[in-house]
Amino acid sequence: MRSFVPSEGYSEISKVSALQGVRTVLVNGGAGFLGSHLCERLLHRGHRVICLDNFSTGRRSNVDHLLSNARFHIVDHDVRQPFDIEASLIFNFASPASPPDYQRDPVGTLLTNVLGAVNTLDCARKTGATVVQSSTSEIYGDPNQSPQRETYCGNVNPIGPRGCYDEGKRSAETLFFDYHRTYGVDIKVGRIFNTYGPRMRLDDGRVVSNFIVQALRNDDLTIYGDGEQTRSFCYVDDLVEGFLRFSAAGSACIGPINLGNPLEITVRRLAEIILELTNSRSRIVHLPRVTDDPRQRRPDISKAMTELDWQPLVGLETGLARTVDYFDGVLAGEEKAEAI
Ligand code: NAD
Ligand code: UDP
Repeated sequence: MRSFVPSEGYSEISKVSALQGVRTVLVNGGAGFLGSHLCERLLHRGHRVICLDNFSTGRRSNVDHLLSNARFHIVDHDVRQPFDIEASLIFNFASPASPPDYQRDPVGTLLTNVLGAVNTLDCARKTGATVVQSSTSEIYGDPNQSPQRETYCGNVNPIGPRGCYDEGKRSAETLFFDYHRTYGVDIKVGRIFNTYGPRMRLDDGRVVSNFIVQALRNDDLTIYGDGEQTRSFCYVDDLVEGFLRFSAAGSACIGPINLGNPLEITVRRLAEIILELTNSRSRIVHLPRVTDDPRQRRPDISKAMTELDWQPLVGLETGLARTVDYFDGVLAGEEKAEAI
């Protein structure tokens, strides 16, 4: 596992966004793709970090390298069950995130988001912690407006195969705002747009990991539908920096706030870029379009730019090249293990 190296350009702005003082920070879902990067960055800044996870879609190997740090602790727990942990800041990142992951156990996904939000907010209510929710661009569903601004209420199918995740996240937002209005809990709701980078699982089924792994293996790249649907891809270091700034912002800054990269591309173009970066012999093939797959997605990040002085710094090709390096290393490790 590589150790954390901040992206170029963050050395100066990190000083601005450093959380005030040393704190105990609880990261629900801390062993996942995003959560593990967040734990790493928080430790790097001197905080004590408690990673709470049930290891359903995350992995211990994502945080193994942090275990030697005396300020890092793991709690094996499911957020659907109540918990009482003393922390002054909580990030609630616990939820399956890739469509195949969240559709595997749809009832479990919905309950993780609803009960997970209730239990996290109850914990924050007791301790007085600030609680930051990892919400999603899926709040907007298959949007009729583009780019999506935070004021747009979305176009979600409540009974389709994405409903378990979309409506779970929407209910969680409702709970966050009702706990804030009713009980005065200090909340922050960030809506994440497609984020990628090292530590995504090889088999998580998301488009970036699928295409890179397929390209590195010279397998067919599987486009679902015509490939004209769009997404806007954010590199993980940029996203984490956005969340750190958000958590350090004053208590009036509660969101919802979009965090993502506004560069919008088609899925077909993404496939072509990945083929170029990997020098792959793979072909592009088309599979049937996925039900309720959003046709377009692009964040309007003016709010984050104004309120957090944040915008992504890592270009798509740079971020993809780093991710290709990561998967290349993982696949080489797998081949070596098979040869032994
Ligand atoms: P991930 O699957 O890698 O991480 C999720 C983590 O939560 C895993 O470690 C998993 O084991 C844990 N978890 C799941 N259910 C749990 C439960 N019931 N109790 C305790 N832990 C549980 O996914 P990720 O991409 O790192 O996503 C993290 C968060 O960000 C999720 O809430 C997701 O909805 C949100 N998000 C991510 C993206 C993205 O592009 N990566 C986009 C929008 C929103
Ligand atoms: N996609 C694809 N091939 C794949 C995986 C995904 O064409 O192997 C498409 C998917 O249909 C969607 C986009 O890529 O239009 C992004 O999918 P992903 O699962 O990464 O995230 P989503 O934004 O849909 O949650």
